Amino acid sequence: MNYAVAVDGPAGSGKSTIAKLIAKDMGLVYIDTGAMYRTVGLYCIKNGINTKNSEDVKKVIKNIDMQIKLSEGNQKIFLSGEDVTDEIRSAKAGLAASDVGAIGEVRKKLVRMQQKMAEGTSVIMDGRDIGTNVLPNALVKIFLVASVEVRAERRCGELEKLGKPFDFDTIKKQLAERDKNDSTRKLNPLRKAGDAVEVDTTFLNIDEVKEKVEKIIKAKIRGGKDENNSR
Ligand code: C5P
Repeated sequence: MNYAVAVDGPAGSGKSTIAKLIAKDMGLVYIDTGAMYRTVGLYCIKNGINTKNSEDVKKVIKNIDMQIKLSEGNQKIFLSGEDVTDEIRSAKAGLAASDVGAIGEVRKKLVRMQQKMAEGTSVIMDGRDIGTNVLPNALVKIFLVASVEVRAERRCGELEKLGKPFDFDTIKKQLAERDKNDSTRKLNPLRKAGDAVEVDTTFLNIDEVKEKVEKIIKAKIRGGKDENNSR
């Protein structure tokens, strides 16, 4: 039986780290929907299009040639044939993604692609509107949360490992800005689905979150007891 796991939550809550690990562990295809919004944002940056001007963005949507290669626990994304998997991780692309994610035409195109990718296979998909909008019938819905301080600390840790410069206060501000953008926009805002299980990762390490989420997934597969609101 094929099934879908939807993982939603704010920026830096650990969605992609956890989803990738679980995909490998449980043999699921991992789909990172944020990467798709980031790629649209990057296209605009590269082509001098102001992402805050929805009319200008709308005009170029059909020109965006985005290709995605999926495998267990991995995803590569290409823009006009160029591998942009690493380039889209910049904070600038993240903020541009948040801008273009508020535009209906962008969401329509990407949501359709995401639903198609989930057909005929078992997937774990992460984003903001997966449980509420993209895969409303997902077998398992997880909503990850963590304090903004902890999310900023995690992001600083990642940048430190990469040997890149960072400033804690700037990162915290950018996360808070994206949270506000994502949860207050009219279209498919970041919201916990009524049947999602919330997991607060503030005081948990990666292994603990992974264990907790896998437990929830396995219980659902077995048709076990409802673990809604378990922490
Ligand atoms: O997940 P990630 O932080 O890479 O996503 C970048 C941005 O893309 C988010 O801040 C959000 O604005 C947008 N996004 C979205 N819907 C999704 C996934 C991401 O609007 N399903």
